Amino acid sequence: MSNPSPSGTARRPLSPRIDELLRACVHCGFCNATCPTYQLSGDEREGPRGRLHLIREVLVEGRDAPLDPLEHCLTCRSCETTCPAGIQYAEILDHAREQTNHRRPWAARLTDRLLARTLGSPTVMRTVFGILRTTRPLTPHLSGAIAKSHHLAWPAVRHARQVGLLQGCLQPHMMPDLDHKAAVILDHCGVSAIPLGPACCGALPHHLHEAGKGRQSARERIDQWQPDWVGITSTATGCTSFMAQYPRLLDDGSARTRAFAEHVADIAAFIDPHNLPQLPPERRMRIAFHAPCTLQHGLRGHRRVEAILRAIGHTLVPVDEPALCCGSAGPYSLRHPGWGRALGRRKWHALTGQKPEQVITANIGCLRQLATQADRPVRHWIDVVYDALTTGPTGGHD
Ligand code: SF4
Ligand code: SF4
Repeated sequence: MSNPSPSGTARRPLSPRIDELLRACVHCGFCNATCPTYQLSGDEREGPRGRLHLIREVLVEGRDAPLDPLEHCLTCRSCETTCPAGIQYAEILDHAREQTNHRRPWAARLTDRLLARTLGSPTVMRTVFGILRTTRPLTPHLSGAIAKSHHLAWPAVRHARQVGLLQGCLQPHMMPDLDHKAAVILDHCGVSAIPLGPACCGALPHHLHEAGKGRQSARERIDQWQPDWVGITSTATGCTSFMAQYPRLLDDGSARTRAFAEHVADIAAFIDPHNLPQLPPERRMRIAFHAPCTLQHGLRGHRRVEAILRAIGHTLVPVDEPALCCGSAGPYSLRHPGWGRALGRRKWHALTGQKPEQVITANIGCLRQLATQADRPVRHWIDVVYDALTTGPTGGHD
C-alpha cells in the first residue's frame, strides 16, 4: 500500500524506468541556457533542472511543493537537445503531470477538460468554424484565422509509394488548402498522399491533462495505418512529432505500434529537393525560417526543410536564439497568455533581426502565433514550395 503524503500525492516507489530517467540528470544546468521559461524569468524553478528537482521533491519525497512550474513548461523539449546527459525530459514530465493532476485546482481541471473536448474535436471545430464563417462580417478581427473553404483538388492516387497524411483538428479550418498543396507536391515527387481526414493525433488532449483521450486518438490513428504505406505524416509538425511518440505514450511495444511509429516522419522526408524547380533570381526571397520545437527537438528534421527552401532558390537569413520556442505550444498560449505573448514578441524580434521579406514555418500553431506580431507575411513552407512548383520558373501559372 502507498503512504499518503502531506501533499496529497500518494508516495509510491517510482517505477524503475522513471527512477532511471531522473537519475540521468547530473545537475549541470546547461539546459537552462535554451529553456524559454528560464530565459524569460531567470528563475531556477522555471528551468528544466529546477523542474526535475521539483518532480523529485513531490514524487520521491512526497513534499507539498507548488506545481506551477510544471504547468508553465511548454514541453518544447529544447532541454533534451541541449542536455549532455541525454535527459528524456518529456517522458519524466508527462509522468509527473499525470501523477499530480488531482492536486490542481478544480477550475483549472474543468477548463482543460472543456478545451480538450472542443479544440481536440474535429466535429466541434467544424461547427465552430462554420458559425464563424457565416458571421465573418461581425468578427473582422478574426478574419485572418478563418479561411474560406478549400478549392483545390486532391491528386488521384497513382504511385506505388504512398503515405498517410493526417489533417488534424484545427488546420483544415484555418488553412484548408494546405494539405491539398502538400499532396500535389508529394505527387510531383512520386508519392501519393492518402488523406486520413480531419482527425485528432491526441496531442491537444494530452497537453490538457486528458491523457486517456489522447491515448484513444492514438489508437484510432494506429488503426488507420496500412503497412504497405512508406510513411505516415502531417503538415503540422506538432501532430507528426506526437505520432512518433505513440509507443511510449501508449506504453505499447506491440509490433504494429512500433512499426507505425517507425514510419512516422516529417513530410519533408518524402520530398526530394532535386525534383523541385529552381526559381529565377527575380522571384527568390530572403526568408527567415522558424523551426517549430516539434520539428527541431521532436523530429530533428529542420535541416531538411531548410535544404528544400534553399533548393528552390531562397536565401535563409541567420536567426538569433534558433532553439527558443515561439510560445504557441499547442494550447499553451491560451492557458498561459502572459508567457505566450512574451515569448512570441521575443521570437519575432529574433526572426526579423536580419530583415527577411517573409517568415516561414512548419506548424499551424507557430504560424498563427507569429502572425499576431506580423508586419510581413508569415507562411507555411509547403505553401512556398507549392507556389514555386505551380507558377513555374518563369512566374506564370501552368
Ligand atoms: S537536464 Fe541535463 S543539462 Fe539539465 S541539469 Fe540535468 S544533466 Fe544538466
Ligand atoms: S520542455 Fe522547454 S520549457 Fe519545459 S523545461 Fe524543457 S526547455 Fe524548458
